[in-house]
Amino acid sequence: MLDKLEEVARTALAELEPIQDEEPLQRWKVAHLGRNSTLMSVFDQMGSLSKEERPAVGRRANEVKRMLEAALTAKVTEMQEKALQKSLQAEQLDVTLPGRPARLGRLHPNTQTMREIYRIFSEMGFQIYRSREVETDEFNFGLLNIPPHHPARDMWDTFHTTTPGVLLRTHTSPGQIHVMRQNAPNPIRACLPGMCYRFEQISARKDTQFAQVEGLVIDRDVTLADLKGTLNDFYRRLFGPGVKTRFRANYFPFTEPSGEMDVECFLCGGDGCGMCSGSGWLELLGCGMVHPTVLLNGGYDPEKFSGFAFGMGPERTTILRYHIEDIRHLWTNDLRFLEQF
Ligand SMILES: [Zn+2]
Repeated sequence: MLDKLEEVARTALAELEPIQDEEPLQRWKVAHLGRNSTLMSVFDQMGSLSKEERPAVGRRANEVKRMLEAALTAKVTEMQEKALQKSLQAEQLDVTLPGRPARLGRLHPNTQTMREIYRIFSEMGFQIYRSREVETDEFNFGLLNIPPHHPARDMWDTFHTTTPGVLLRTHTSPGQIHVMRQNAPNPIRACLPGMCYRFEQISARKDTQFAQVEGLVIDRDVTLADLKGTLNDFYRRLFGPGVKTRFRANYFPFTEPSGEMDVECFLCGGDGCGMCSGSGWLELLGCGMVHPTVLLNGGYDPEKFSGFAFGMGPERTTILRYHIEDIRHLWTNDLRFLEQF
């Protein structure tokens, strides 16, 4: 029986030696350590052995079993180590290769200007309020004191949709009605930015889409002086404390009185040049005191409340900031242009 154990050990170890794969290893385990292996049959036959033989055979059988188990564990470790080395070599990564530089994105110059405008108005206590770009005729015109057939409608060439009465907003002003109806009768200090659309002849100064930033303030006892003070403060924060501005009278259907605000030409300092068409001034925005009819349409009693509104073109501000000669550059998505900002 002892000889048989030695034979089992010798055979098993010899068969284990060349094994390199998982499958033959499993077969080896079943053959030499499994329930039907020769080694296990030795344990089964212990009862038939004599009392003298039993202790020696039992001890040796256990030793052989432990030896084979240890050999199996060593083999598994060896195979794992080899697999690791193989994958390390096959998937070798050369960290000395220079990497491909990742191109960093940046914000569109107009977005940069818009964010600067939001930042300043936020500091002045305005809340940013967004409203929809597809509007009804009623909100874009009617509620803003521009009834159908009013000649003022000619000021805005409109993109109409195939649904009657639905259009692409021509200005951010319909947002005024939305924000008023949401907040009436509470005071409002809102900044309404967004994209607007007009059926324009595209030129160096005009495009069919453009951003606008509208401002709306409504409270008791708001006056024209508040309008001028707020806008002068805004442009000092945007362009620097020395900036010179002026107000001119104008006409808008939704404000009364209405005006436009100019800034002294940055390029010539007021002497007159090509950029300012010789006037020494650059037009910045339209503004005015909110028309009583618009206040009423928004849910405010014009006897108790007053307010002012203004609308500026951030593209125009961007062009002035960077001396861009053609407004169309802003929306053609040419990276050679955009990468300069
Ligand atoms: Zn000038």
